[in-house]
Amino acid sequence: MHEMAIAESLLGIVLDESGRHGITRVNRIQLQVGALAAVVPAALTFCFELISRDTIVADAVLAIEMVAVVVRCPECKERFEVDNQFYVCPRCGPIPAGLDLTSGRELTLLSIEGESGDEDESSESPCGEEYPRGQ
Ligand SMILES: [Zn+2]
Repeated sequence: MHEMAIAESLLGIVLDESGRHGITRVNRIQLQVGALAAVVPAALTFCFELISRDTIVADAVLAIEMVAVVVRCPECKERFEVDNQFYVCPRCGPIPAGLDLTSGRELTLLSIEGESGDEDESSESPCGEEYPRGQ
């Protein structure tokens, strides 16, 4: 499963970062996923819950934000967003195959919110937020 591999590498990064910042309990993870990364957010959340169960990340909310695909026109170097499969440069018109994708594929870890052992630092109160469990 595609999402499982991503979840595993994500957990590795989160645990690594948490250790570096002295976080003993992770509350929230903010992740940016490119529209072309072919990630199903629900599947990624499910996989992530599964493998993080016995870690400090177990109760964390995984906030996934989808980002648009941005391409760069090979002719005029203009960057623009595309909604779907239609790549049309605002200046040159439709773009032939072999275009230069500048974003839309990648996964970016934006932030990790958590609590460190020493201080009771609850950075943001996530009230009203329901974390889907089980399944
Ligand atoms: Zn162009």
